[in-house]
Amino acid sequence: MLVIDPEECIDCAMCETECPVEAIVCEDDLSKEQHEFLQLNEQLSAKWPVITTMKPAPEDAEEWELKDSKRQYLEE
Ligand code: SF4
Repeated sequence: MLVIDPEECIDCAMCETECPVEAIVCEDDLSKEQHEFLQLNEQLSAKWPVITTMKPAPEDAEEWELKDSKRQYLEE
């Protein structure tokens, strides 16, 4: 999982169309179920390290990319 620093984001929406698994949603389009991710994104972006270089996807990325209900596995 990656998060986006809301202070750095300029809301250009490019990432929404570029994300291969459609994991990025504009905050105005969040469903009721997705709304908790707005605050979670902000909290984690302040805590997690900033990624400054491109890295290969994790080896198990394909296994996880289309699974639903992954929130339960997130360790904050
Ligand atoms: S690409 Fe996404 S994260 Fe980056 S500035 Fe645009 S909307 Fe924000």
